[in-house]
Amino acid sequence: MVLETKAPRMWIDGQPASAVSGKEFAVVNPATEEELARVPEAGAEDVDRAVRAAHRAFEEGPWTRLRPRERARCLFRLADLIREHREPLALLEAQNVGKPIRDARDEVGMVADCFEYYAGAVTKLFGETIPTNAPGLDFTLREPIGVCALIVPWNFPLVIASWKVAPALAAGNAVVLKPASYTPLTALALGQLAQEAGLPPGVVNVVAGPGGTVGAELVRHPLVAKVAFTGETATGRAIMGLAAEGIKRVSLELGGKSPLIVFEDTDIDQVVESSLGVVYGNAGQDCCARSRAFVQREVYDAFCEAFAARSRRLRVGDPLDPETEMGPLISGAQRERVRGYVAVGQEEGARLLAGGGVPAGVGRGFYLDPAVFTDVTPAMRIAREEIFGPVLAVLPFTDEEPLIRAVNDSIYGLSGSIWTRDLGRALRVARRVQTGVLSINGSTSVHLEAPFGGYKQSGLGRELGMHALQLYTEVKNVHIALG
Ligand code: NAD
Repeated sequence: MVLETKAPRMWIDGQPASAVSGKEFAVVNPATEEELARVPEAGAEDVDRAVRAAHRAFEEGPWTRLRPRERARCLFRLADLIREHREPLALLEAQNVGKPIRDARDEVGMVADCFEYYAGAVTKLFGETIPTNAPGLDFTLREPIGVCALIVPWNFPLVIASWKVAPALAAGNAVVLKPASYTPLTALALGQLAQEAGLPPGVVNVVAGPGGTVGAELVRHPLVAKVAFTGETATGRAIMGLAAEGIKRVSLELGGKSPLIVFEDTDIDQVVESSLGVVYGNAGQDCCARSRAFVQREVYDAFCEAFAARSRRLRVGDPLDPETEMGPLISGAQRERVRGYVAVGQEEGARLLAGGGVPAGVGRGFYLDPAVFTDVTPAMRIAREEIFGPVLAVLPFTDEEPLIRAVNDSIYGLSGSIWTRDLGRALRVARRVQTGVLSINGSTSVHLEAPFGGYKQSGLGRELGMHALQLYTEVKNVHIALG
């Protein structure tokens, strides 16, 4: 099977689909600023067709009647197909998002692993038996919810789609996936692979188009029972509002301003090398980006110097070059937004130790040199707001108490890392930091088998692991009277 990448279409009821209006939009390669593909732009009629197809598949189709092992087999087949198409999918993601090809390859591997994990989970959706006071047998059933609208952002298009599609299907739901307008290509490819894997028509639908119209239409549609969203906190707030009318189930993965906490007893070179990926990975356009570093006074200067030196040496360039460590930002608008924050940091009195400008000699592509700010105080905007670009703000601290207060003084609470050789101190701080995900002496925020999500305005609900299945099931309690 050849993936359709140049003129991809949406997927509705098992068929490739153009928009009813015939409208299309251009998808741009952020490294070259050239058109990569043209994609159908859905309208309300297309959303309605997709939701009705999903609803039919859920209510009438064979999907919900498939035995668990058969449903699992469909997901295993999809995982195999993703792995078989790893190279074209990685190329598509690298070209569409501007992320380094080696990262894109890793991501596609993770997507296949995710479908495999949830294929295995199909047969492990257990209920409980409960010792009720009334004589009888009381047990719970975990049942699918219905049509799930899955709305994903542009920074990890296929990865985040898999975090939603895989558990939703494992639990027996039917889905309508909506990728971000900047990056619809791998989601459309996933639609094609889902049909090839033998999922019944209407179980996986993919529609493309702007969030404000297509996304909002999906959330409002009366036959949608559940909305799972990843994106900006402000959009999440709007989606919650739209979903309130129908009391729809909602789960949200939103923005972040995650701390990197470095105590004086750590190997600074090791911290710098390990943290590069979580500060500049995906050009800093990562919800888990450690965009504010809190570094203990004793090692503050050494850390700032070492991080700035390594940042200057970061290989910024063509995403398709296997040596590239950081590609361009997603768009010209995003680059301007990030440059705006670099200017704000300087106006606020922080010291720009490295980067922040457009790399010399770059003609095309939305490139930006990674920036390091020192002498940052907690009140500065660069220390408080989500910049979503390659900018690190480094703040000094002296003791644990003020450190914890400063770290928690944020509307966000997604991820973070703590570096110290003193395990007691690491655990003490970990217990008090208000984030959904933490790594101690390491940088990985995401483990497929473990829950992922945010405290406070970073989100609602937990994706990944067996926890995600709670987002895609209802609990039914059944009591058999034996009195
Ligand atoms: P965004 O909120 O602009 O868009 C996300 C998706 O929502 C897109 O598909 C968009 O088309 C759609 N959308 C926009 N307005 C909508 C509306 N009114 N109704 C329905 N859908 C709508 O976010 P983005 O710019 O694509 O992504 C960047 C943001 O995502 C950052 O804030 C980042 O922190 C966050 N993010 C969070 C996580 C996480 O897991 N917590 C992961 C990745 C990204």
